Amino acid sequence: MAINNQHNMSASARLVAEARKHQTDREKTYRGQALKMYPWVCGRCSREFTNANLQELTVHHKNHNHDDNPADGSNWELLCLYCHDNEHSKYEEMRFGSAKQEQQDNSGGSHNPFAGLADLLKK
Ligand SMILES: [Zn+2]
Ligand SMILES: [Zn+2]
Repeated sequence: MAINNQHNMSASARLVAEARKHQTDREKTYRGQALKMYPWVCGRCSREFTNANLQELTVHHKNHNHDDNPADGSNWELLCLYCHDNEHSKYEEMRFGSAKQEQQDNSGGSHNPFAGLADLLKK
């Protein structure tokens, strides 16, 4: 039987865990700020949101830099999941030209149920 010494969590593992926690905290903060600042309406399709479906309303960074969070909210835009996905595929196409990106970037850890839908509608 292997003995797992939980007290000896390596320093680097601890740093990673802390960095992750900070990132989550920061995201919560700018999302919370943006939701306070702007009406709960998608900036593209004007869909309205309530507490019941608020998780489908996302905060988009206009300059696509998630670390750029000015307090006046000038870099934020509230978009529904679908429009947000669209906004990012446009941006990817701009950046990578006609090279089709089949790979989904799931580094954020959140699954986007509309990712496939966006492709269907483009045709
Ligand atoms: Zn929308
Ligand atoms: Zn975005």
